[in-house]
Amino acid sequence: MKTRTCPICGYSLEEEVEYEKSVGFTRAAYPATLEAHFTSVHPDFWSWEQSKRRLGIGLGIVTAVLTGLGLFYVFGIVLHIGQYAETGYLILILVAFVLPIALIHRRGTEHFKAQWQLEGHQF
Ligand SMILES: [Zn+2]
Repeated sequence: MKTRTCPICGYSLEEEVEYEKSVGFTRAAYPATLEAHFTSVHPDFWSWEQSKRRLGIGLGIVTAVLTGLGLFYVFGIVLHIGQYAETGYLILILVAFVLPIALIHRRGTEHFKAQWQLEGHQF
């Protein structure tokens, strides 16, 4: 998220982000700019991501629950080890939740990026 460029076409969003900031957006300037760029330039990617968001969250919940149960049964972390390990336990569950969403997002981004380049667009 440090490089403010479009993941699909590589277009620099720096100017737009600065503009959004100047009109009052601060923390959400980049996501807001990215969303505006997606809806106007890559509407097919945007609708794809919207439709996959629910699937990603559903899968995330499943893997998080499985990871939680697995850790619980294999290591008994919550019962036998102290508070510090509980934090690690929660972080692992969080990672298990985010991972499917991140993987789906990455696959989609790569797919649409390849398609974009195939169509001969250049920035
Ligand atoms: Zn773009």
